[in-house]
Amino acid sequence: MFPEIERTLVTRGQIAARVAEMARDIARDLKADLIRDGHSALDEDRVVLIPVMTGAMIFAADLIREMPVKLAIGLVTVSSYPGQSVSSKGAQLASALPDNLAGKHVLVIDDILDSGQTLALVREVVGAQKPASLRIAVLLDKKTARVREVPVDYVGFEIPDEFVVGYGLDYDGYYRNHPEIAVLSKSVLDAAEQRG
Ligand code: 5GP
Ligand code: MG
Repeated sequence: MFPEIERTLVTRGQIAARVAEMARDIARDLKADLIRDGHSALDEDRVVLIPVMTGAMIFAADLIREMPVKLAIGLVTVSSYPGQSVSSKGAQLASALPDNLAGKHVLVIDDILDSGQTLALVREVVGAQKPASLRIAVLLDKKTARVREVPVDYVGFEIPDEFVVGYGLDYDGYYRNHPEIAVLSKSVLDAAEQRG
């Protein structure tokens, strides 16, 4: 789709199949929680999904359409600082968190678990509201890049420590609409490194 893309790590078909499996596992676990609480999967006001913007947009959109559970969505935006394109040194909330999570079954959804700082932060602030349960789903896991350990419940694919784009993931704001998980050409990334 874009000439700057050099290599595909995860194809459309692989993503679709895995997202459907993840949705099935997540729905099964949420339904078990709800039954334990004396509710049904179609009862209102029990389940809140929190996609971390903007990277989790496409993953979350595909995931929820495979989940036959009554759920609300509360977006959160987290920004990494100091704002480099290809590495993250920390995370801060860039939007208010939904404030009605007490007693709810909450699923945080993100595109990728890298250093762990983003999801460690989200887990902490969501957990402070005392939800009934708190789980995390990520499409991608760069296991070897971890700085902070974060317990995640659902992982789509483990990938090597390479900078990836597509299926919601950006480079400087672009390539989110590339339908696969892919690696940009070295010349694009080298040029970014030189700019700092
Ligand atoms: P963290 O390092 O805090 O675990 O991940 C921070 C955020 O950096 C992720 O939510 C994601 O938005 C972004 N990120 C981490 N690794 C990559 C990558 O390989 N490609 C892209 N496009 N974003 C990444
Ligand atoms: Mg992100």
